[in-house]
This record gives sequence, C-alpha cells and structure tokens, in this order.
Amino acid sequence: MSFTSRPILDNALDAVGNTPLIRLDKIATEEGLKCNLLGKLEFVSAGGSVKDRIAKAMVLAAEKEGKLIPGKSVVIEPTSGNTGIGLAMACAIKGYSVVITMPKKMSLEKEALLRALGAEVIRTPNEEPWDSPRSHIGVAQRLRREIEHGIILDQYCNENNPLAHEYTTGPEIIASVVSTPSTSSRPSSMKVDAFIGGAGTGGTVTGVSRALKKTHNPDCIVVGVDPIGSVLALPDNLNGPNEAKPYVVEGIGYDFIPAVLSFADVNHWVKTSDEDAFKAVQTLMRKEGLLVGGSSGSALSGALAWLKTEQGRIIAETEGLNVVVLLPDGIRNYMSKEWFLKSAFSDERSDLAVRISGI
Ligand code: PMP
Repeated sequence: MSFTSRPILDNALDAVGNTPLIRLDKIATEEGLKCNLLGKLEFVSAGGSVKDRIAKAMVLAAEKEGKLIPGKSVVIEPTSGNTGIGLAMACAIKGYSVVITMPKKMSLEKEALLRALGAEVIRTPNEEPWDSPRSHIGVAQRLRREIEHGIILDQYCNENNPLAHEYTTGPEIIASVVSTPSTSSRPSSMKVDAFIGGAGTGGTVTGVSRALKKTHNPDCIVVGVDPIGSVLALPDNLNGPNEAKPYVVEGIGYDFIPAVLSFADVNHWVKTSDEDAFKAVQTLMRKEGLLVGGSSGSALSGALAWLKTEQGRIIAETEGLNVVVLLPDGIRNYMSKEWFLKSAFSDERSDLAVRISGI
C-alpha cells in the first residue's frame, strides 16, 4: 500500500484547509457536460467548513497585532455558525473565551458544536434587519461595548477574510489542477477555467477570484451564487423587486452588502432556490458519495444553471475545460433539519426496498 506520510501537526489549526478537489463525473455526464466538473470539498477541514480558514487567519492576525490577551480576551462574532465554529476551535486551542451571536434559523447542530467547543451562544430573531440592535450583528456590537476585553474580529469587514482564500483556497485549487496531467480519457486545459461559489460575506468568491485571476488565469470566469430572497446578486434586478425574504439554506445571502465582497472580482451572478439546492445535495450524496451541506447544493445547482446560460454553454461544451464548484460544509451541520430528514427518509421506494420488503 502506498501513502504520503504526513508529519505530526502541532494542533488542529494545522489541519485547517488543504482540502481535496474531486471529480463530479457522474453528475457531469448526466448533465451532458463536456467540461470537467470538480468539487472543492471543504468539510474535511478540521472544523468542518470553508470558514475555518478565515477564523484561523483572523485570530492569528489579531494576535500578531497584539489585540488578543490569553485568559482575558472575549472574542465575540456574529455568524451563521461556521465562522463561529472555526473561531471557537481556534480560541479553545489558544485560550480565549468566545461568544457567538447567531440567528435562530441556523441549525441546532451548529449551536451544539459551538457549545461543545466551549463557546456561549446567543440566538437572535431571523426577521431583524442587519442594522437592528436586535439582529445578530446588533447584539454582538452591544456585547462588545458591555463585555470587558470584548473584541469582534468582524468577518464582514476584516481583510483577512478574503486574504485567507487568496492565500489558501485559491492556490490549493490551482495546485490541484496544474498537478493533474491531461490524459486522452480525461483531457484537461491544465487551467481553472471557471469557479463557482456561494456568497455570504463574499470572502470566498472575492479571495479565490483574486488568486485565480492575478496569479493563474486572468480569463477565469468567476460566478457568485446568491439565494432567492437575498440581495447580493448583480445586476440588482436579479434580486427581484422586494426587500430581503426568508429562505432556508444557511450561510449564504444577506440583506446588506458586506464590505469584503468585491463585485469587481465576480463576473456573473446566479440566483438559486432552496428546492434546487436541497435536490442538488441529494444528488451529490447519491451520485458522488459526498456528504455535503445545503449551500453546497446551492453552489452546484447555481453552477449547473450557469453552465446552461449563453456564456456558460461555451465552457460546458468544451472538452477539458475545468469548472470548480466550492462545497463549503458538510451534512453534519444539518442532520436534524427537515429538508435533510425528508430526503433521507423519503417515501420513494427504491428497487432494493421493494426487493427486500418481502424478506
Ligand atoms: N456556505 C456556508 C455553509 C457558510 O457557512 C458560508 C459562510 N457564511 C458560506 C457558504 C459563504 O462563505 P463566504 O462568507 O466566504 O461568502
């Protein structure tokens, strides 16, 4: 048996990122794509999501700047959960207290993980606009004023958020693509030709785009995915006529534009529905064996929708072009959610279920 030996790591932060890029061949074939469809699998990172990277980067940068005092600092962060989990992991290792503010709609699993890592969790009403004192952002700001040694690292404004992706996520994708040889059965342009990712803070699409366009392929097309009900997509008419509306998928979309989201780095936007996202999660599980979360389904369904547009079709129909879809977290975060349980225990009876029913 052959394997690459890995040295002993100092702590869990050294097991953040460095995630695999995996062919989604069965989905590509079923969709009639000639390009290569590749998924960047972030749930294998130590804290279980793409947000571990920014949590680690923000904590290390704050330490370097002398902003964190072990045993004293209280790291407060408004989050949809994954940044909180990454921060709670980093702070458990380094000895800082953590308070997470998180809207009620986010899963029980995320709260349980946060508490398991020693964080305090405060839930806020879903319907409060971001600038309300009762929103997850408003409550975090009040706590910072009231808690001694309280500090918000602020993923919405912190430049280390996109930088973490420019320095790690993007270069990892490039390294995987350029180190995989082109063969006659699996041709490759040896370049990343398109990248599709969901936007919450927008740090992922912004940072990955910068890495790809600046250092690798200036013509790489970057597509942002935004859920219906959110307001991040451009042109603005894609978002519909109304104000932000509720949707179920977690971690992507907002009712305001985060400062770290750079529209100049995103070529196109697509809107996705909960229904298509959750169907795509099921497809990723059943066809590719990938135990991903809801926003991974949004990213895949957004990618497939974009590949059917006029610009996307040119890429979809060219053999060997590489299309990378970012899969931000795993189903671990959503096992109790109705959308997951419904698909796992669906009434649809497989041939096997019929065959074994009489035994
Ligand atoms: N998916 C999930 C599950 C997330 O938690 C996040 C982060 N909120 C994202 C996607 C989007 O990442 P970003 O904040 O970098 O846009």
